[in-house]
Order: sequence, then C-alpha cells, then structure tokens
Amino acid sequence: MDDHYQQLLKIKEEKLIKAFEKNNISCMIVKDEKELKNYLKSILVHQKKVAVGGSVTLSELGVIDLIRESDVDFIDRYEEGLTREQMIERLREGLLSDIFITSTNAISMDGCLYNIDGTGNRVAAMIFGPREVIVIAGLNKICNNEAEAIEHIRQYSAPANALRLHKKTPCAQSGQCQNCLSPDRICSSYVKLGYQSQMYRIKVLIIEKNIGY
Ligand code: SF4
Repeated sequence: MDDHYQQLLKIKEEKLIKAFEKNNISCMIVKDEKELKNYLKSILVHQKKVAVGGSVTLSELGVIDLIRESDVDFIDRYEEGLTREQMIERLREGLLSDIFITSTNAISMDGCLYNIDGTGNRVAAMIFGPREVIVIAGLNKICNNEAEAIEHIRQYSAPANALRLHKKTPCAQSGQCQNCLSPDRICSSYVKLGYQSQMYRIKVLIIEKNIGY
C-alpha cells in the first residue's frame, strides 16, 4: 500500500470507528494476524466458554487453532466425527457462551453489521446470549451503505458460501442470487445489527487485508 492509500484508509477507518461508537459497538483496527492473535490471546483465558460462528475468515486467520490451544472451554463445532445431532447441540450450547467469535458478511460505513444465515445460530448468538461477541472482518467487507452491503451479500457472500458448502442452489451455478426457494437455500435469516442497548457487548476487529466473503 502506498502512503496516499494508507492515508485514505486511515480516514475511512476513523470514520467507521466513530460510526460504530455511536451504535455502542466498539471497533478496533488490527494491522495483521500477529496483532489480531495477540488481542485474542489476552481474552482467551480462565476457562471461559467460547464458541464460534461458521466462517472462512476465522479458519483462514488460524483463529480456530488458536482457540483450541488456549486455556478456554471451547465448544468445538468442528471436532472430527461429530454426528449432525451432536453438532446441532454444540451450536445450541454456543448460544450461552462467554465469548462468541464470528465474522460478518458486510459492514456499512454508518456502523452496522449485515448478515445472512442459513441455520441461524450465528445471527442468533450475535443478537443475544453470549456475554461478549467478537466480530473479525477484512477490509473487503466494508461497504458504503446499506444498499451496497445487501448487494455484496446477495452477489458475493451467499453464492460463495453456497459453492463452499456444495449446495445445489441457482447461485452456485450462475454466481448470482436468484432469490431461490431451493431446499438447499442458505439465506434464511437476514439480520442487520445497528444500535445496541448493551454497550460494547459487540466488538468489531477490522484486519487490514481482504479476507473471507
Ligand atoms: S436465495 Fe438462493 S440463490 Fe439467492 S443467494 Fe441464497 S441460496 Fe443463492
């Protein structure tokens, strides 16, 4: 990144931090994986109950492995050999965790988070249950406004997730949302998180790179 781009990024980041602040959501910029992991290590302590939302971002950043190595009680939805019933139980258990770590599908410059969810456990936990919610997202998730955020989700997040999960949906074929009624549809709950009554329960960590979708 050249100096001018860095300067522009800083201006946008400061604007975004203020917008989140207005919504009682804290927002912190981390420059790389090392900084991100140092922060996470400082909170992943004392046998806290920790759960995660399904996320490419978390896997790619090594967050799942970090949680497994930490002194926490990890409700590990990715443990090998789980039956579907056991997995669902873990998702249910995650709703009462101390810390819920997830990504988000899109962020608008007015400090809101936009998500689409198939099972719904991720958005449910973001709304209520876990004492603390940590949202980790790359720069590519930042959109100018609500319309752009929704478009990003319909045209990128959902089709890419449908492909990743081998879903037989129209978007996995065409690359575009067709508002399907397919049994494999992954878009069941559209959730926008804006002003929060509980101050800083949600903390957003923006990592200065493009990651996830
Ligand atoms: S509604 Fe259907 S076509 Fe649209 S993104 Fe979701 S799964 Fe794909």
